Amino acid sequence: MNMKKNLVKEIKKLKKEQKAVILAHYYQLPESQEIADFTGDSFALSRKAADTDAEIIVFCGVKFMAESAAILSPDKTVLLPEKMAGCPLAEMVSVEELKKLKHEYPEATVVSYVNSSAAVKAESDVCCTSSNALKIVKSIDNDQVLFVPDKNLGNYVAKRVDKEIIIWDGYCATHHRVKAEEVRKVKELHPEAPILIHPECREEVLKLADFIGSTSQILEYAHNSEADTLIIGTEEGILHTLKKDNPDKKFYMLSPHLICPNMKKTSLQKVYNSLKNMETIVKVPDGIRKRANRALTRMLELSG
Ligand code: SF4
Repeated sequence: MNMKKNLVKEIKKLKKEQKAVILAHYYQLPESQEIADFTGDSFALSRKAADTDAEIIVFCGVKFMAESAAILSPDKTVLLPEKMAGCPLAEMVSVEELKKLKHEYPEATVVSYVNSSAAVKAESDVCCTSSNALKIVKSIDNDQVLFVPDKNLGNYVAKRVDKEIIIWDGYCATHHRVKAEEVRKVKELHPEAPILIHPECREEVLKLADFIGSTSQILEYAHNSEADTLIIGTEEGILHTLKKDNPDKKFYMLSPHLICPNMKKTSLQKVYNSLKNMETIVKVPDGIRKRANRALTRMLELSG
């Protein structure tokens, strides 16, 4: 306990000395969320950090998130405390494979979910988040869209627009693992509780949801809901913020398997090491950065 307190103290000291800002995704361990200046969804965090005058950004998350921070803040140093924290979904599409698909559909508009590498974003016309994917695809002035890399989010969008959506065969192993059978069982146990599910889950699972939304949309829904018990269908790290925001409500996980191992790799010790030793610096080459930034800016324009 004392060791933890000391670490927190040391991190705060280093943070001040280094003019750093600490970001933590909602799926991080509670200790990382507690030490952070900002907690949030990945892209919102990068935008927040860009608005600060910090010189260093410590991103408690996975690599593509640190890359997005580097794209938006080219003059800041971005650190990923755990260099092995990758995202299997983002790694399911490479630039070469995407270029091949673009060649097959030369007229299509390429929409990449922000859970993709900087290099894939650079090959895209526009990015999207899980909050705005539907809005972005609807507002594109083209009836043919290539959607990468998440097939569940792509399918969720495709079912709600009158356009041809060519969907990449990628998925988030954590969300994709949930089965409809699990939802039915939870429903039996808590028949009154609304079920809130992230669109990275399978279609059969989404069909049983009372609400489908991104992590921050799930937080907002839970906060505004009159229900005192809710079922949560996204990564379990969100429970930390949910319980803090709603001390009188009860939350049950939709499935015990909603745990992303990569999101749990960052610890207080690693945040400390990261600030102390300036590790691991995440850089995006300037050519890629500019093109990826264009796709992100286009998203902001279309999403209003
Ligand atoms: Fe990637 Fe899924 Fe983990 Fe998010 S929860 S980092 S999308 S694997």
